[in-house]
Amino acid sequence: MSGRLTRLNRTRKSGAPVSSTLCGRSMNAKLRMYRTGLNALRNYIVDEEPGYICPICLEVFRDPNELTREHVPPRSTGGKVLCLLCRACNSTAGSSMDAALHERAEAARVMSIGTSRRFLQLKTGEISVNASLKHEGTNAAFQIEARHNDPANVEQFRTLLQTPRPESHIQVWYPNLFNQHYALVGYLKVAYLYAFAKFGYGYILRDCMDQVRRQIQNPKTRQIWKWWLRRNENQDKTMLYLCDRPLNCLAVGVAEHIIILPSLQEPHDQYDVVRDLTEGKNVDELTGQFHLTHSFPAPIKMEMLCDRTAA
Ligand SMILES: [Zn+2]
Repeated sequence: MSGRLTRLNRTRKSGAPVSSTLCGRSMNAKLRMYRTGLNALRNYIVDEEPGYICPICLEVFRDPNELTREHVPPRSTGGKVLCLLCRACNSTAGSSMDAALHERAEAARVMSIGTSRRFLQLKTGEISVNASLKHEGTNAAFQIEARHNDPANVEQFRTLLQTPRPESHIQVWYPNLFNQHYALVGYLKVAYLYAFAKFGYGYILRDCMDQVRRQIQNPKTRQIWKWWLRRNENQDKTMLYLCDRPLNCLAVGVAEHIIILPSLQEPHDQYDVVRDLTEGKNVDELTGQFHLTHSFPAPIKMEMLCDRTAA
């Protein structure tokens, strides 16, 4: 820990002094988060002003104007400002993943609530039509409106429905395809930033977290074999769990997934264990077998629990 922070300290940017022109509620919130990060690092760096370390790239910043407020999860999916990232990480490490998470949430919303400006596609045989999903009480029905379709297509579709063959079926498509891999990296980023806000620098500035950051910074390529498991129960609140069996890990509930991060305690073999448990077995639901040693509510501000006790 101290070795890593010393290295970071030596390589930090010289940075401009804290701006005296900050004003407004959002700037005050930014300044508060900046100072929270700075105070957390004071537990480790005593000989000079530490600054704020961007949790993604680990660069050090001494001017809050170089940092941006980060919504976790992304604002388009209902997230709240939780911490600060540098501008580069906010734009480059975020855009593709945030877009995928937005599309993923939109697809789930359309399928569950059925109200959207976008349409689903119903397909049977070679014929497909645009349809919206309308909910009435506990019932749901597809509605095919002529003005959003080629009338001839609708006619053919209806004819096919009225003369079903034994093997006929209707496929439902959500045409605004999202990139599943980007969405999963986006969930990893959400879980990582939740963990940062909850536990602080004492948690993320460990060597075992490098592979997590590498994956977030390189969303196109697979840096970790598998970091997610599907939740086997519906929980509407994001929670952080410390588990010791079958994985020694920090498990973070994000949407319908459990995201696996390194535990606060060694060993840090969680991704090897996930691979052993799931590879070739088509198994991705392990939550029922988890032995939880601790659970935490999702953070709504930078709590930095590890840093408070580090001094
Ligand atoms: Zn950064």
